[in-house]
Amino acid sequence: MRRAAGVCFLLVASVGPAMGGTCPGHPDALGTSRVLTISPDEFTRIGSIQYKQSLPLADHEVVITFDDGPLPPYSNFVLDTLASQCVKVTYFLVGQMARAYPWVVRRMYNDGHTIGTHSLDHPLGFERLPLPRVEHEVEGGIASVDAAIGDPKAVSPFFRIPGLGRSHVDENFLDSQHLVTWSADVVADDWFKGISAQQIVQRAMRRLDAKGRGILLLHDIHPATAMALPTLLKELKEGGYHVVQVVPAGERPASVPVLVAAGDKGAWPRVLKTSATVHRATARHVTAAAHHKTALHHHIKRLLAKKRHPAAVASIPERRQERF
Ligand SMILES: [Zn+2]
Repeated sequence: MRRAAGVCFLLVASVGPAMGGTCPGHPDALGTSRVLTISPDEFTRIGSIQYKQSLPLADHEVVITFDDGPLPPYSNFVLDTLASQCVKVTYFLVGQMARAYPWVVRRMYNDGHTIGTHSLDHPLGFERLPLPRVEHEVEGGIASVDAAIGDPKAVSPFFRIPGLGRSHVDENFLDSQHLVTWSADVVADDWFKGISAQQIVQRAMRRLDAKGRGILLLHDIHPATAMALPTLLKELKEGGYHVVQVVPAGERPASVPVLVAAGDKGAWPRVLKTSATVHRATARHVTAAAHHKTALHHHIKRLLAKKRHPAAVASIPERRQERF
């Protein structure tokens, strides 16, 4: 068992500067309006793209999430942008990436963001994996992020399935581990080949406006996403949106020891200078990500095509959505 929910405790210290709409040095910042504490006992599977249940958000409340990282320098640029606006998000990290760039993982945590996991190495076709491989991917991802961050209590029991490749095998195992399975309410297609920063902003805003609220899925490993983020946050502010940070019930450390970066400093954009080990890990992930793109593209398209008929989707029992 992963870890049971404990006493409700908000990590207000790390979120404090953003609360109440104040952001030192940035009086017009978007900020983070509130913290929502959830327990795996209450929220097993969330995100209306795939599940009946989502987070209890008010009108014009948005939860921002980033998958697949960390990957410098893009993740660093995203962190800088979020810090400038005092916006707190949830990361779903890939284990191999966390092991390659632990100093970025620790910055994410120390900047006050929520850290969830997204498998060990983001395999293709997660929905077709046998249980032993699912266990290996889920447990290996958590162990890797635990190791990178240096304190398992800093890692939230939040998991997003790679490629949103849900199956009964996946979900039952995640339930058994007391992990909250996160899907999403809104995507911005930021993994599409050749999509521009402007298109990412337009799609995110148009789809959020259509739903009025929701969990937004983005990827901090893509340059277009990193470039889109400043404008996206500006448009969220102008559109009257409020950012909600989600944290798990239970105690967490206020901070973790900082690690010195080993090669991800430098101007944006630039060629990464990494150790051979890090380079191999990154290359594997980027290659895997390229293979996933087509499959993920079609998978999300199918999901969204279904959502163009909300009445029909709403009437379909959750168990029948496995084929989407
Ligand atoms: Zn992913």
